[in-house]
Amino acid sequence: MKRLLICLFSFSLIIVQAQDSTVPVNPALLIYRASFPHINDLVHTKLDVRFDYTRSYMYGKAWITLKPHFYPTDSLSLDAKGMDLKAVSLLKGKQLLPLKYNYDGSTLNIHLDKTYRNTENYTIYIDYTSKPYELKVRGSAAITDARGLYFINPLGTEKDKPTQIWTQGETESNSAWFPTIDKPDQKCTEEISMTVPAKYVTLSNGKLISQAKNGDGTRTDHWKMDLPHSPYLFFMGVGDYAIIRDSYKGKEVNYYVEKEYASVARQIFGLTPEMMAFYSRILGVEYPWVKYSQMTARNFVSGAMENTTATLHMDGLQQDARELADGNKYEDYIAHELFHQWFGDLATTESWSNITLNESFANFSETLWFEYKHGKDAGDAVNYHDIEHYLADPSNPAKNLVRFYYADRESLFDMVTYSKGGRILNMLRNYVGDSAFFKSLNLYLENFKFKNAEAQNLRMAFEQVTGQDLNWYWNQWYYGSGHPIFDISYQYDDSKKMALVVINQVQETGKIFRIPMAIDVYEGGIRSRHKVWLDHAGDSFYFPYNKRPDLINVDGDKIILCQKQDHKTLENFIYQYEHAGRYLDRREAIEYCAQHQDDPAARALLIKALKDPYFELKNMTMNLIDYEKPGVKVAAEPFLLELASNDPDRTVQGNAIGQLGAYKKEEYKDLFLKKTADSSYSVAGNALAALSLLDEAHAYQVAKKLSKSPARGDLFFVMSTLFILEEDTATFEQIIEGFQKIPLGEQKVAEAPQLFAGLIAKTKNTDQVKRAVDVITLFSEDFPPGEKKEMNKLINSYLKQVADLKVSQGLKEQADYINKMMR
Ligand SMILES: [Zn+2]
Repeated sequence: MKRLLICLFSFSLIIVQAQDSTVPVNPALLIYRASFPHINDLVHTKLDVRFDYTRSYMYGKAWITLKPHFYPTDSLSLDAKGMDLKAVSLLKGKQLLPLKYNYDGSTLNIHLDKTYRNTENYTIYIDYTSKPYELKVRGSAAITDARGLYFINPLGTEKDKPTQIWTQGETESNSAWFPTIDKPDQKCTEEISMTVPAKYVTLSNGKLISQAKNGDGTRTDHWKMDLPHSPYLFFMGVGDYAIIRDSYKGKEVNYYVEKEYASVARQIFGLTPEMMAFYSRILGVEYPWVKYSQMTARNFVSGAMENTTATLHMDGLQQDARELADGNKYEDYIAHELFHQWFGDLATTESWSNITLNESFANFSETLWFEYKHGKDAGDAVNYHDIEHYLADPSNPAKNLVRFYYADRESLFDMVTYSKGGRILNMLRNYVGDSAFFKSLNLYLENFKFKNAEAQNLRMAFEQVTGQDLNWYWNQWYYGSGHPIFDISYQYDDSKKMALVVINQVQETGKIFRIPMAIDVYEGGIRSRHKVWLDHAGDSFYFPYNKRPDLINVDGDKIILCQKQDHKTLENFIYQYEHAGRYLDRREAIEYCAQHQDDPAARALLIKALKDPYFELKNMTMNLIDYEKPGVKVAAEPFLLELASNDPDRTVQGNAIGQLGAYKKEEYKDLFLKKTADSSYSVAGNALAALSLLDEAHAYQVAKKLSKSPARGDLFFVMSTLFILEEDTATFEQIIEGFQKIPLGEQKVAEAPQLFAGLIAKTKNTDQVKRAVDVITLFSEDFPPGEKKEMNKLINSYLKQVADLKVSQGLKEQADYINKMMR
C-alpha cells in the first residue's frame, strides 16, 4: 500500500500535537500482538458474486476449502464482517449439509460435522449478502476507511464521476466481502466469478479464463488465481475503463484508465515492463505471477494498493498530456506497487507487526528504480526526501520499526515503516555491498516465496550470505527506535600535520548508535577513504596530512540515517560542492551558502549551482537565492535566461521564467508571451504570471484565450487568480468546474482555500457565492478523517474572513450562507 503523502505530510504536526496533549496512554498499547494462531488453513477460495448498485450490496456465494493446520479440530472460525448469511453448509460430494454456526456480525463460528485431521480437506459453502455501507464496526475507521468493498457513484447521480466498484483489503477489510481467515499469514489459491453490467470491464487476481454474456444485459467474468496469496490481496474492480495492453516476456501487462486518458496511459504506466525486467534481474527471481494489471480508482482510500497481479491506484495518476510534459509525478507509485509483487505478495509479512517486510522494501524500491533509470542523483534525492518525511513527524523517532505493541494496526503504516524502513535497507545495502545485498534478498525470497516471514528471517538470510552476525543491526534498527544526531567538529594542527575529527552523538535519548561510516579526506585534489565505526557518545579520529586538507567529508557516501550539525567552513562546503559530487554533498553546500549570502564566495557558489546537473537542485537554488544581495541580480540573469529558454526540464524552465518575471524587463515580454503557449502547465503558468507583472491587461487577454482549453497545474491557478483579480465573474463558474476536474494532488490541496476565498470575496452574485461555498466546503469530504478535520479548519479560517468582508459590504445573506455551511 502506498499512503497518499500530501495530507499525512502537511498535517501530521498538528495532529500529533493534539494527541500529545489530550490522550492518555491507550490500554491497547499494552497488548502484545502475537502472530495469529493457525487452527485451520485456507486451501482454496471460490466466489460467485453479483452487485446490487441500488443498495450497494453484493450477493455472494463462497466455497471455501480448508484443512486443520496441525491438530485435529471439529470447528472453524471465519472473519465475515457485517454480512447477512443465508446458508452455511458443508459440501459433501454434490450434497450440501447444513452446519450449526454462531455469528456475531464479525466472526462466524462453525461446528463442523466431525473432527478433521490435517490430512483432510473440507469445503464450506456460504450464501451471503455483503453490505459494506451498513457496516457497524468499520475496523480502524479513526485512521482509514475500512469497508472492503466500495461502490462509487453507483446510481450515476454524480455528474462527471464514473460508476465504479473496487475493493481494498489491507489490512483486514476484505472479510467485509467474502468470509475468510482475514490474516496475512494465510495463503490460498482462488477464483472469482463476477456478474456485472455488460458495458463494464472487470479486473481481478490471476487470469481471466472465461467471459459469458447472460440474457439480462449482464456478463459473467471468471478470474482464476492458480498461485497462493493472502486474503488481503484479493481484488475486484468493475467500471467503464479503457484497457491499454502492454506485455513483459509474453505476460499481459495492462493499464485500466478512464477512457479520456487512453491516449496517455502509456506515458503514465509505460515504464512498467522495464521495471519488471529490472526488478526481476536484481532480485534473481523472475516476476512470479501470470500477469500484471494496474487500474485507477475514484475516491480511493489510499494512494495505491498492491493486490496480487492487480494493483489499484488513486485517480491522481491520471495526468493529462500537458501535466506529463513536466514529468510523471507518480512514477514512484508504479515502482512501489510493482516491487510489492515480490515483497508483500510473494513473500508476505507474518503479522502486521512485521509489516516492514512489505512496506520498507516497496519504499526502498523507489530509490533503486530512480537510481537505475534516472541516475544516482535521482536515487539519492528519493532517499533524502524520505528521511525528511520520517523527520516531519516528531513522534516518529520514538517508534520501533517492528512494533509488537500498537493500539491500531493501521497506525503501523507510517513514515517509520515506509521512509525510515527504506533508509535502513539502503544503509544495509551500503554496509554489506550490492552483491551481498541482492544475494541476500534472493535467498530470502527463495526461502519464503508463497510463505510468510518475520524480520528475523530477513536477518538470517543476510547472515547466511555475508557470514556475519547482524543481530546488532537488527536490534538497533528493526527492534529499536530513533536515529543518531551528530555534532561534527574539525581541528587542524599544522605543526603536527594532524587533523582531528570529533563526532559526538547528541540525541536526547542518550542511546548510542553503532554506525559503520566512511570518512573521506581530500588533500591536494586526492581523496583517501577511511572506514570507521562510531560507537560512543563521542568518537575521535586522527588523520595525518602533508598539506592541510581541503575537505574532510564525514559520511562520504551520504548514506547514514541521521541529523547533524556539521561545523565545516564555507571553503569546505564550496570544495564539497565541486569535488565530493553526490546529490547530498551538493545540496548541503547550497543550503549552507544560502544561509551565508552576505559572503561573496557563497553568492558565487549559488550562481554556479544554477547550472547544477540535477533539476531539483537547480530549482532549489533559484528559490534560495536572495536576488537583492549586491550583484546577484545581474550575475544570475544570464543563467536564468538560459534556464528559462532551454532547460530540458520544464519545471526548471517554468521556475526560471517565474524568477525572470520579477526582473520586470520589457525585453523579456516576447519570451514570456511565447512560453504562455508551451505544452507544459508549469512553463505556461509561470510565463503568464511573469507577463502579468509586466502588463496585467495583456496577460488577462492571453488568459482569456488560453481558458478556452482545459488547464491544470500552475496554468490553471495563475489563470484563475488573474480572473479573480480582474473581477471577471463571468469566468467564475468555469474556474469552479475546472477545479473540480483536477484530480486531488499536492497543489490542489495547497491552493484551494485561498483560490475559493478570493473568488467568493469578489463575486456579488449570491447564487455564485453559494455554489462556490458548496464546492469548497465539500472539498475535504473524501479525505481520511484526521486530515479532513485539519483541512476544514484551514478552509474555515479563510471563509470566516470572507464572511466578515461580506457583512461589511452589507451582503448579509451571503455572509449567513458562508457561516451556515462552514464545517
Ligand atoms: Zn506499499
